[in-house]
Amino acid sequence: MTLEVLWEKLADITTKSGMKCGRSDQCNADCCRPSVSGSEPGVTPPEIELINGFLAKQRGFRFYEAGEDSCKFLDKNGKCRIYAVRPIDCRVHFCIDDSLASRPNHKAANLVEDYHSRHDVEFMETELIDSFKFSGEH
Ligand code: SF4
Ligand code: SF4
Repeated sequence: MTLEVLWEKLADITTKSGMKCGRSDQCNADCCRPSVSGSEPGVTPPEIELINGFLAKQRGFRFYEAGEDSCKFLDKNGKCRIYAVRPIDCRVHFCIDDSLASRPNHKAANLVEDYHSRHDVEFMETELIDSFKFSGEH
């Protein structure tokens, strides 16, 4: 299954199950700020490749626009600057109303787990935020 097909499946599942941000009026994209959420999205080499391809077409892309404590792709308005190619972990996280915990959905979780099990996700998990140098980054 290609990443694009997986994205479509995950979008279908989350839409049909009505998953959406439960505390959207209480947060400032907190899930993209490890210092607030206490976690980082996992990312795999094929996802990195797609992100790099996306970045290679951008002009004047700015990393860490939202501050050093955020994901390097978060802009100052709380929007993901690589939204079209964001990792699958970022596609399935929707907070419960009063918590940063994600709404459970076993179908989405199984698909993510299956994909991660076939890739080197552990290596990239800590690299997304801090040390991996993406295309155009210094
Ligand atoms: S998933 Fe949660 S932390 Fe992220 S934007 Fe939605 S409500 Fe905010
Ligand atoms: S890649 Fe985008 S959605 Fe994922 S943590 Fe970073 S800013 Fe948030």
